[in-house]
Amino acid sequence: MINIPKGTKDMLPEESYKWHKVYEVIGDIAKRYNLKEISTPAFEHTELFVRGAGEGSDIVNKEMYTFLDKGERSITRKPEGTAAVVRSFVENGMYNNPMPIKLYYKTPCFRYEKPQAGRLREHHQFGVEIFGGDTIQSEAEVLMIISDFLRTFGLNPTFTINHLGCSKCNTAYKEILRNYVAPNIDEFCSDCKVRYNKNILRMLDCKVSSCKTMLQGAPKITDCLCEDCKSRFSSLLTLLQQLGINYVIDKNLVRGLDYYTGLVFEIIDDNKEYGQNAIGAGGRYNNLVEELGGKSTPVIGFGLGIERLLLYLDRIGYNFDNNEKADVYVLDMTGNSAYTLNLVHRLRDANLSVETDIVGRGTKAQFKYADKLQAKYVIVIGEEELRDGVVTIKDMTTGVQERIKESEIVNYCNK
Ligand SMILES: [Zn+2]
Ligand SMILES: [Zn+2]
Repeated sequence: MINIPKGTKDMLPEESYKWHKVYEVIGDIAKRYNLKEISTPAFEHTELFVRGAGEGSDIVNKEMYTFLDKGERSITRKPEGTAAVVRSFVENGMYNNPMPIKLYYKTPCFRYEKPQAGRLREHHQFGVEIFGGDTIQSEAEVLMIISDFLRTFGLNPTFTINHLGCSKCNTAYKEILRNYVAPNIDEFCSDCKVRYNKNILRMLDCKVSSCKTMLQGAPKITDCLCEDCKSRFSSLLTLLQQLGINYVIDKNLVRGLDYYTGLVFEIIDDNKEYGQNAIGAGGRYNNLVEELGGKSTPVIGFGLGIERLLLYLDRIGYNFDNNEKADVYVLDMTGNSAYTLNLVHRLRDANLSVETDIVGRGTKAQFKYADKLQAKYVIVIGEEELRDGVVTIKDMTTGVQERIKESEIVNYCNK
């Protein structure tokens, strides 16, 4: 037997209705917010992610599925959704269109991580990117999209948020932080030493406990914002309060990617069994379009992990209504396949979900199987029924059994 690769998961048929429900909700939310779908390839030129996510990020340094194709090009399987969408935005000249451009996507992402619950090497994301409008209104809209999406599943999310400042205050802050850690830099982990030179902000994200301890008293970016950023962040917080969006400020939140500027946020599932996982996260990145060769365009977006959401919903006992059961099981006792299959086909033409025997079960076994399918109706065709042009139909929810004319069957099942 050949096993599934480590860190990957099948979407099994008995689980697929949950995925369909999530995708259906994504479609509903997209419609309500007038988001347009974009789909980009599963792989891109490696350079896109190096320039997008940043050389200092864990994704680029440790986690990418990179290979040389037969033409000796360095190709990488998409580790996250944003860079490819921005690449397409630039390549297709979307910045020439009236703003905003509001896009959403569903995509698999590939990261070579240590597999554990909620951390897969292939996972799926629902993401949104809103191009144009460097405003708190676009930021509020993005948080409302996530909030409305999660509300559909009965969740009332609290966002963990932070503000990374504009290029002016961000640069000033990096200098302050550099001065703070410089005397002790030898005591930090090897990753942090690299981050110190490449993107010092990412030191704040280090999971090594000794690094965490040393950084506890470090100055916070949020306390070093310029006047513009400060007043803008506080206007956003006021707006969020007025909109009923819950948040807590986490002054250490910097996110694992280099491209963020300004607002960053996460929705955390804090769980004893498998620790802290972000179900969704995002932020503003106003330099990425230009970085990837386009006309400078502000963008705010997020990505939300579908497997993590499903894991979370299962854990809290969310009841996914399985509406993917068969409507009708047609049980033929006569052996007149043409008659039965024509009847089945008429029901299917009427958009009903219909099953009938195609594996050669006997009558008794068919009754048992029909029960197991939990079809709403079971239709029985016996010799008598065939002769009289009727069928016996049993409503499995009420237990009521009737004989009705064959010609009335579609209406009956559709009522
Ligand atoms: Zn600023
Ligand atoms: Zn460290």
